[in-house]
Parts: sequence; structure tokens; C-alpha cells
Amino acid sequence: METKFQPLKENSTNQPTESKSDIKPLAKWSLDNFEIGRPLGKGKFGNVYLAREIKSKYIVALKVLFKSQLQKCQMEHQLRREIEIQSHLRHPNVLQMHGYFFDETRIYLILEFAGNGEMYKFLKRQPNGRFSEPKTANYMAQLADALMYCHARKVIHRDIKPENLLLGIHGEIKIADFGWSVHAPSSRRKTMCGTLDYLAPEMVEGRDHDERVDLWTLGILCYEFLVGSPPFEEEKQDLTYRRICKVDLKFPAFLSIGSKDLITKLLKPRAEDRIPLKKLLEHSWVVQHLSSEVRSRLPFFQTATSNNE
Ligand code: AMP
Repeated sequence: METKFQPLKENSTNQPTESKSDIKPLAKWSLDNFEIGRPLGKGKFGNVYLAREIKSKYIVALKVLFKSQLQKCQMEHQLRREIEIQSHLRHPNVLQMHGYFFDETRIYLILEFAGNGEMYKFLKRQPNGRFSEPKTANYMAQLADALMYCHARKVIHRDIKPENLLLGIHGEIKIADFGWSVHAPSSRRKTMCGTLDYLAPEMVEGRDHDERVDLWTLGILCYEFLVGSPPFEEEKQDLTYRRICKVDLKFPAFLSIGSKDLITKLLKPRAEDRIPLKKLLEHSWVVQHLSSEVRSRLPFFQTATSNNE
């Protein structure tokens, strides 16, 4: 499909300086509104391209999904929910969905462009495949703020893992892929595909669950960022399953007391015992490492602290 379109110019990854405003939502988008640039990546149901909205010159990521593949895997319902949820969320650490359109064979999602790509690859490129404690604490604060925002709107993500996180132009986290998200509370007994590693005990056991499953996954992610692999990883899924249910947690010696304390407080088998997101933002290990720049970009944190004054 690339041959049909003009390539973007070299400097086109910068948003136009004269227009700081958002891409304007159009009632009816079509492919004619965009110039298509280089491919950004390949997903299960199609490809993602860098693109520019011609009128505003706004740079976006255009995700092209093939209807036939979605139908084959019975994913249309899930995609509809993903669009409905993600297009209504506005937070600096949630990847924005600007809109969508479709033609006979494809569905196009107009997404915010995440200039620094995939968190998963960035983590793998680090020395020993893990982040420092200050970097991890700053990521945790961004995720906690974004999830507070989602949970306040009764949206549970349920699938927070490095593969579903992108990085913005300032290195900030962008939660993407709301394909498994639901409006809380949920008693949906869905078989989640892929790895068990991030699933909370109530989900692996197929019990009812609420937004506190995202607290568990934050604990798993915090461990993975600091150690390089998730805490219950095993070759055989039944072993992972047993370790999750027992919360069989082992920490390497290099972790600080503060980081272990936070992970332990998130990885509680009973959802009601998990540390709430607001308390996570006040946890001494997070506060100790939180940079003023990241702090200034946390909308929920800003509101909470200004209300306390
Ligand atoms: P997905 O189909 O969502 O798994 O996307 C496939 C790949 O495209 C990802 O692994 C990313 O490398 C890239 N990608 C997807 N969405 C974006 C985006 N909004 N900004 C930049 N790259 C993206």
C-alpha cells in the first residue's frame, strides 16, 4: 500500500511548531486525509505506519487492521470495546486514540505517535536487561497516575506488561493496547491468551475481579523492570500458576529494601490488601526517586497534592 502515497519528509517526526493544538476530530476520516510514511511495526492483525494528517500536518501512528483476520479470530467485539474505551481517555501516560475509519477490507486506528517506540525493546537493550531503581520508580509513578485516572472512570486495563507500553518523545510511558480492558467490575471468565506471568491470582483462578488486578500487574512490572524477568517465570505454565497462587516471591540480593517493600505490598494475594495507587505515589521509595520533571507531568498527583495544601 505504500506506493500509493507520498513519503513523509525527513524531519516529519516533529509535530508542526505553529500548531500545538491536537488533531481535530473529524466526523468522517478517510485515507485521503493522510500521507503515509515508514512502517513503525507489525502486529498480529496488521501493520502500523507513521502518517501525517495533511491539513494540520499532525504526525500520528496509523494502525491498519485487516477485517478478515479480525473476523477469523473473532476479535471484532474486542476491537470495538478497545476503540470505545481508548478514544475516551485523555492522560499524558495513556496513548491517545484520535479516531478511526474503515473501508471494505481494513480498519484504521488513528493513534498518538510514540516517538521512542516499545518499552519491551528498550528494557532488553539495558545493561543486564533491567532498569535502575530511580528509573523504575519514575515509571511506576507515571503508571500509577495513569491507572488512577483510568480507575476513576471505571476502566481496568488488565494487561499491563512491557509489550503493551510505548515510550513518548520525552521517554514518558504511554499505556497502549486496551484490547483486554473492561469497565469495572468484571466477572468475565475469559481465557486470556499468552503468558500467565502478569495475571493476578483471582484472574488465573477465573474468579470475579475488579480494578485491583492492575495493582498486582504493577507489582509484577516493577519486579521485571528491576530484575529483568517477571517474578514467577517458569518454563511450564502450571508451575507459574502454582507460584502465582502461593505468591512464591524471591528477590535477588541487589534490590533495595524500599523496592522490595513496594513490590511486596502490591503482590498481595487478596486484592483488598494491595497498596492503593495513591499510597503508591506516596511510598518512600517512589518519593525518594521521583524527579521533579516527571512529578510535574503527573496530573492526578498534582491535583492530590494541591488539594492537601
Ligand atoms: P501492535 O499491532 O499494536 O502490536 O503494533 C505493532 C508495532 O508497531 C509495535 O510493536 C510498535 O513497534 C509499533 N507501534 C504501534 N503503535 C505505535 C505508536 N502509537 N507509536 C509508535 N509505534 C507504534
